[in-house]
Amino acid sequence: MTSAREFWAARALLPGGWAEAVRIAVDPAGDIAAVTPGTPAGAARRLSGHVVPGVPNLHSHAFQRAMAGGAERRSPAGQDSFWTWRETMYRFVGRFSPEDAEAVAAQLYAELLEHGFTCVAEFHYLHHQPDGTPYDDIAEMAKRHLAAARRAGIGIAMLPSLYRHGGIFGKEPHAGQRRFLNDLDGFGRIVEGARAAAAGDRQASVGLAPHSLRAVTPDMLRAIAGFDGPIHLHAAEQPKEVEECLAATGARPVRWLLDNLPLDSRWCLIHATHMDEGEAADLAKSGAVAGLCPTTEASLGDGIFPLPAFLREGGRFGIGTDSHVGTSPAFELRQLETTQRLRDHARAVATAEQNPHPGRTLLDAALAGGAQVSGRRIGAIAPGMRADLVELDDTHPLLLGREGDALLDAWVFSGQGNPVRRVVCGGKVVVEAGRHVDAMAIRDEFGNAMRRLLA
Ligand code: ZN
Repeated sequence: MTSAREFWAARALLPGGWAEAVRIAVDPAGDIAAVTPGTPAGAARRLSGHVVPGVPNLHSHAFQRAMAGGAERRSPAGQDSFWTWRETMYRFVGRFSPEDAEAVAAQLYAELLEHGFTCVAEFHYLHHQPDGTPYDDIAEMAKRHLAAARRAGIGIAMLPSLYRHGGIFGKEPHAGQRRFLNDLDGFGRIVEGARAAAAGDRQASVGLAPHSLRAVTPDMLRAIAGFDGPIHLHAAEQPKEVEECLAATGARPVRWLLDNLPLDSRWCLIHATHMDEGEAADLAKSGAVAGLCPTTEASLGDGIFPLPAFLREGGRFGIGTDSHVGTSPAFELRQLETTQRLRDHARAVATAEQNPHPGRTLLDAALAGGAQVSGRRIGAIAPGMRADLVELDDTHPLLLGREGDALLDAWVFSGQGNPVRRVVCGGKVVVEAGRHVDAMAIRDEFGNAMRRLLA
């Protein structure tokens, strides 16, 4: 990976809008030191296309990249659902060694970079050995993800996950969940291990991830709610989860969270698919971020997020790739918007009078929402932010003749090609000519891991 102290963008999307001939100075730690539009390139490294901020990916379970495309077969009973997919995932999860987890994560992270993601929020629950015994270092698996992120050169928000139970509230866990389970004490030690490993690393942060209302108790959630940083949890992904929560508490999941926890800008509710209008409005007003994973939600048959009701009240959202059937921010945003169109028989749903381009509106939301719950200074090309830059090749056939917000519409809504030409992450060039700079070696190790996992 090469670093340069200065980049120059022919066009760049700055907080105030598009600007031309922008010089971007980077300090030795990889943060943006200065942004100067209307300046000649001089000796700066030239980015001749349209440059946008690197996109935060707010939800990843990296190991699931090894399952992507491999869990599509009809089961003998023919009643396939999220829950039968989860059984397949539990069988697969038993096979991962720490080396496999690191190799798969490095491949995923290289792919994410190649598509324009520059930070990954790793919601990490695969903690222990297959029989549930902790590794000698209880944070071993968490550290493997940090090592993979460093190898690929992507930023990471490490989110160790607390998983204790097998159903709402306090049901005994399933045998397939053994590798995930901790009490608060074990969880605390993993968080400490992650913090120590990430200390002083400007490319990493640490948050907390109580897995879901199925996996923790109200007391555990209250203990975590005092944390002064990002808190992520899965919520209301499936109708069955809503039914179980209603039966156990008398409230729907998002309503229960709103009524029982101090939801605010630290919180990220992953999916939040099944909300009524009142829940969507109140979640929006709380300042929490909805963590949407559109291609995974479509793949698993989760349902459709109530975007119009959420946006009407100023709701904030970001995007994640979750199970990694998709690895591109453009495809996630396209799936999000086009699913709304299918349901509502409408177009240009995520737009407003002052911002008529859905590509721009969706990208702005993903940058701000993802940054908010990553605990890092990312999501904008501005002094003090990480130098995370994505250059879109405006001579690519997908984008040819488009400019500014219209070019973002073309990126998000057309074709299957990838016009990301160059990616800078923390001031280092990690993607050149559309390829990760270490793609071949990372892929070889991934190939070895896949042969072991599928043997
Ligand atoms: Zn998830």
